[in-house]
Amino acid sequence: MAEAVVVGGGIAGLASAIGLARKGWDVTVLERAAAVRELGAGFALSRNGLAAVSALGINPESVRAIGHPTWASGTWDLHGREILRLPGTGPAREATALVGLHRARLHERLLDAAQEAGATVVPGVVVDHVDPGDPQGRRAVVHAGEQAWEADLVVGADGVRSVVRGAVQPGRVAGYSGYSSWRAIVPGDVGEGELRQSWGPHAEFGHLGTAAGETYWYGYVRTAAGARFRDEHAAASRRFASWAGVVRELIATTPNDAVMRHDVYALPVTGEPYEVGRAVLVGDAAHAMLPTMGQGVATALEDAATLSLLVPDGTARAGLGDALARYDDVRRPRCEAMSRMSTASGAIGAHLGPGRRQRIRNALMGAVPASLTSRGATSVISWSPPA
Ligand SMILES: Cc1cc2nc3c(=O)[nH]c(=O)nc-3n(C[C@H](O)[C@H](O)[C@H](O)COP(=O)(O)OP(=O)(O)OC[C@H]3O[C@@H](n4cnc5c(N)ncnc54)[C@H](O)[C@@H]3O)c2cc1C
Repeated sequence: MAEAVVVGGGIAGLASAIGLARKGWDVTVLERAAAVRELGAGFALSRNGLAAVSALGINPESVRAIGHPTWASGTWDLHGREILRLPGTGPAREATALVGLHRARLHERLLDAAQEAGATVVPGVVVDHVDPGDPQGRRAVVHAGEQAWEADLVVGADGVRSVVRGAVQPGRVAGYSGYSSWRAIVPGDVGEGELRQSWGPHAEFGHLGTAAGETYWYGYVRTAAGARFRDEHAAASRRFASWAGVVRELIATTPNDAVMRHDVYALPVTGEPYEVGRAVLVGDAAHAMLPTMGQGVATALEDAATLSLLVPDGTARAGLGDALARYDDVRRPRCEAMSRMSTASGAIGAHLGPGRRQRIRNALMGAVPASLTSRGATSVISWSPPA
């Protein structure tokens, strides 16, 4: 049986492990953390993410069942005035339909599925370098201190600061976006179950339901690199003090210890292949992008589904090099386009500066027909696995 080592037990790594194990590979997932789990916070999964889940052999209804139906209902300004409202019915509503999910719940679901499929998950292993080997010849080797694993395939699912990327794309390093995000999950339902995003100068605030009686919010703001606040909750309250009531109330009702903050790093689009030798990149390791389109998780799931569909099955070792080249052909153009769209979306949205620019943007966006906006969304979420 061919052996795969997946570096990283996040969403991309576990999804890859599921797909490969179901394809007959002997899969070992090496995870740096002492316990394989995700911390709190939520996200919204779009239709392409559910299609990828299905391509991995997981019933998408089982993912819907651990989440909450929601939809992107439009954009407001910081005072709560409508900038763009998307229709709540018809095809436009379908195009913006989402499942709100608690990250820890999806992670747990994927971990169970990976183990059920036969993958071995090993926590507490910090991979330090990878020899990618050669698909026609020598096997790859994954090193972690004194330990080493030989493999027919190495999947780099080790996130934005990927060590595997050091072997595949040496020199491609993530840069600080200039933005950091407070995030929290709080008890209670807010709004009509919709994903509401609000824009202000150099900032975005959003909230959505992740379960009945549970709401996720994020506050994404321009922040100096490496900034630290003694009290994150107080800092978030100050930053959004002049925003609409619902924003202030959500922050105010959040327990202090439920507020977390993450600096956002993104990879430049360089056109370098996602694979070399027997090593391949998936998820943030390949294409960490700004969160401004909310496509990080969905694209990670698409990567995992595509990779597992393209690789030869675990009993046939031939054809791996061609499969990885095809993976790169299929995935890189889409993910590079998505990274560029996320940057463009940030430029007109959360990253836009104060003053006249805000007023002009809001007026222009208000004039955009909702049908055009939902057509744009359709191009992102209409993904199907490679034949
Ligand atoms: C503030 C913020 C908000 C976001 N909001 C959204 C959203 O709403 N919707 C959305 O779709 N996406 C969102 N994203 C993006 C999304 O979180 C990521 O794209 C997604 O989690 C990537 O998953 P991953 O498995 O590739 O990487 P990660 O989740 O980073 O997992 C990588 C794993 O590899 C492990 N690892 C790292 N290095 C090593 C090593 N050397 N050896 C062994 N293990 C290692 C890590 O411990 C980790 O478990 C957001 C991101 C940020 C920062």
